[in-house]
Amino acid sequence: MNMPEQFDFVIVGGGTAGCVLADRLTENGRYSVLMLEAGGRDDGFWISIPAGFSKLLTGSAFNWRFQTEPEEATYQRRIVVPRGKGLGGSSLINGMIFVRGQKEDYDQWAQSGARGWSFDEVLPYFKKLENFEGGASDMRGSDGPMHVEHIKLRPELADAFIKAGVEAGYPHNPDYNGASQEGFGYYQVTQKKGRRWSAADAYLRRAEKRPNLAVRTGAHVTCLELEGRKVSGVTFTQDGKTCRVQARREVILAAGAVQSPQILELSGIGDPAHLTGVGIEIHHGLIGVGSNYRDHYCTRMNWRVTKPVTLNEQARGLRLMGAVAQYALTRSGILALGTGLAHAFVKTRPDLATPDVQFFFMHASYANAADRKLDTEPGMTIGVTQLRPDSTGTIHVQSPDPFAPPAIKPNFLSVPSDAATLIEGMKIARRVIAQPAMDPYRAYEMNPGDTVVTDAQWLEFARRNGQTIYHPVGTCAMGVGPRAVVDPDLRVHGLEGLRIADASIMPLMVSANTEAAVLMIAEKGSDLILRDARAAA
Ligand SMILES: Cc1cc2nc3c(=O)[nH]c(=O)nc-3n(C[C@H](O)[C@H](O)[C@H](O)COP(=O)(O)OP(=O)(O)OC[C@H]3O[C@@H](n4cnc5c(N)ncnc54)[C@H](O)[C@@H]3O)c2cc1C
Repeated sequence: MNMPEQFDFVIVGGGTAGCVLADRLTENGRYSVLMLEAGGRDDGFWISIPAGFSKLLTGSAFNWRFQTEPEEATYQRRIVVPRGKGLGGSSLINGMIFVRGQKEDYDQWAQSGARGWSFDEVLPYFKKLENFEGGASDMRGSDGPMHVEHIKLRPELADAFIKAGVEAGYPHNPDYNGASQEGFGYYQVTQKKGRRWSAADAYLRRAEKRPNLAVRTGAHVTCLELEGRKVSGVTFTQDGKTCRVQARREVILAAGAVQSPQILELSGIGDPAHLTGVGIEIHHGLIGVGSNYRDHYCTRMNWRVTKPVTLNEQARGLRLMGAVAQYALTRSGILALGTGLAHAFVKTRPDLATPDVQFFFMHASYANAADRKLDTEPGMTIGVTQLRPDSTGTIHVQSPDPFAPPAIKPNFLSVPSDAATLIEGMKIARRVIAQPAMDPYRAYEMNPGDTVVTDAQWLEFARRNGQTIYHPVGTCAMGVGPRAVVDPDLRVHGLEGLRIADASIMPLMVSANTEAAVLMIAEKGSDLILRDARAAA
């Protein structure tokens, strides 16, 4: 029998965190690293064009397209849970909005048991990872591999929305990733000169030039190999064959918040009661695996607009052809736009220390947000999301079959305070659009419509129409209690040779879209791994 190949480190998942790890762990040339990615290479036509977001969201070439289980609180709807598939992972198909979150998020991580992850301790990694167009400061970095640009498109309708926010009493905030998050302004995006800049663009291109990195695509990891309490390697399938590979030092799971807990459970690591129920032999009991699922639930309100100043008319016919030509020549215009244009971070109650609701403003409207087909008449949309929901759900395998999708139960709106915050957020959005700056543009509210006025009606609208905005986290949470899966050094509790570094380790949701936090986790995780490797030498 052939001996399995050996590497110092084996990274499972070539996504957002995986690309960072592959780069940082090979940088000093001392360690051999293998990265296994179930999807393919990141060479799709729509990937680099920001407006390709809709195609990537609804297509399946680079998207696992999971679904939630039907749940009563959201009227038994199966909500699509897109996840990136291919080198770059979800950074390959995401909306490119770059938000770090609030200082208090990370301070709460540290207070909850994630020692070493307070804001002051993670800020150096946020600065290290970025090349911010606005330049370096005590809060921002300009030497990192991840390009962060300002949105260049400034449509008059978005300017009016920001002005309306100021009229409603909120600050204008040109850098919500700086000292304070609160206020209205334009989003920052992970783009370079108008093109998507994924984690593969930022980290993997340069890392792949090194002889000590091997990358395998189409390599679906089916389980971890254990020798007693030590994880010694992984099994994967590629081209219909089953392969094994050994890790001399460590295996690092970076398969994301949906698939890292799935791989643990398939390997017999998880809640014994659940594993026994689905016929998987228990190798290591860890009750927290797959619990603490947190995600951002978003409702979309939209308005008919009085004049043709929106994407609805600009993205069709001759005007679209003009936009294509503009993008081809200058990498600007509506094709350089992903999902978010203008933002707001607001407090729903004056006694709050920091914002608890985020708005996504687009000068566009969709009859059905899930299929992303633009309306034909002018329209605008505000997506309203609660930043730090308390509702938690679960994700668990349903059988020992490694190719079967896991059961995702987000449990959206199960905590009454989450519903109250979302309702208040929607009322604020309506108040903002009622301001004088919007008078020339506002025709009428289409959804939910001004017949919706009581809290019960607002909640009904939210339950019937809300969607995920694709930020699942927390399913292998970092901490020290019995439900924690990894310790603050990202080592899986009770096992040797296994760490997790991806969105699944967040103990609590960050007040942000989640890519920036994942990049930070992988940067800091790489430092922790290298520190321990040096100490062991
Ligand atoms: C449609 C969409 C829009 C989003 N928009 C934004 C946004 O605008 N801004 C923002 O900040 N965040 C956004 N996010 C969230 C953000 O992109 C993710 O939180 C982040 O990229 C997750 O990184 P990760 O490394 O944890 O997982 P991923 O980047 O998803 O990487 C996991 C990788 O593991 C691979 N994998 C999984 N299972 C296996 C297996 N068994 N074997 C081998 N490989 C495997 C996957 O194919 C994937 O490549 C969005 C996400 C999506 C899906």
